[in-house]
Amino acid sequence: MTQTSPAATPQTTRSARAEEPRPQAAQAPIIQLQNLEKTYTTARGALTLFSGLNLEVQPGEMVAIVGQSGAGKSTLLHILGALDAPTAGTVTCASVNVAQLSPREGAAFRNREIGYVWQFHYLLPEFTALENVAMPLLARGLRKSEALAAAAKWLGEVGLEDRGDHRPGELSGGEQQRVALARALVNNPRLLLADEPTGDLDESTAGCVFDLIERLHASHGLTSILVTHNMELAARCSRILRLESGRLAAYTP
Ligand code: ADP
Repeated sequence: MTQTSPAATPQTTRSARAEEPRPQAAQAPIIQLQNLEKTYTTARGALTLFSGLNLEVQPGEMVAIVGQSGAGKSTLLHILGALDAPTAGTVTCASVNVAQLSPREGAAFRNREIGYVWQFHYLLPEFTALENVAMPLLARGLRKSEALAAAAKWLGEVGLEDRGDHRPGELSGGEQQRVALARALVNNPRLLLADEPTGDLDESTAGCVFDLIERLHASHGLTSILVTHNMELAARCSRILRLESGRLAAYTP
């Protein structure tokens, strides 16, 4: 089944679209999966997570992917972000045929186009918040002074301008995740891929981090794909897809 959405702008909400069903100019999808298959070879034989899976995501969409544990959501996100290769099928992401990238090209593509946020922040404990956010810029070859200046700006964007010299262990869970968001976006990627970004946070902190994701998504013109178990947060996305039995289907909570 191909999941094709109406064109969405970063500011377009689901309710606004429902009230104003004006035809919009067709635009090229920023993500296109065609006939995707992923099969793992395990000691117990082949494990096919999905085959013949199709998906189109338009620029500016915020898509939630839900589904039971083990359905293959993280694997799908890894394939979208060139962290894992499909067994078959094509993955076009930001006009790049991701499945055909060499490891070096894949790393450059990820650094340029994709911001990742995980359930656990994976900040480097021995570095300050500012240095952690600057890391992707240093990896790209920016001078340290420039990287730190850009990182400081991003810490401001996530409301942590006064925590730059704190190490991750000196920050709360919500603050750590906000630093991780700043690090994910410091290279100004077009895509934000988030795997249970609020899964390790209490309800109120999760809501605040999701508010921040929504705000950054809109203000930076991002296209975002979020894997989540939290249906309340999923319902705030422009659409929800459920991954079940190797198929993605539109889902209404
Ligand atoms: P979800 O994110 O929906 O919980 P995952 O994508 O993490 O699901 O995993 C889907 C299934 O694939 C699980 O059953 C998992 O055990 C299996 N799996 C994930 N990675 C590998 C791997 N490298 N080798 C074999 N099986 C794997």
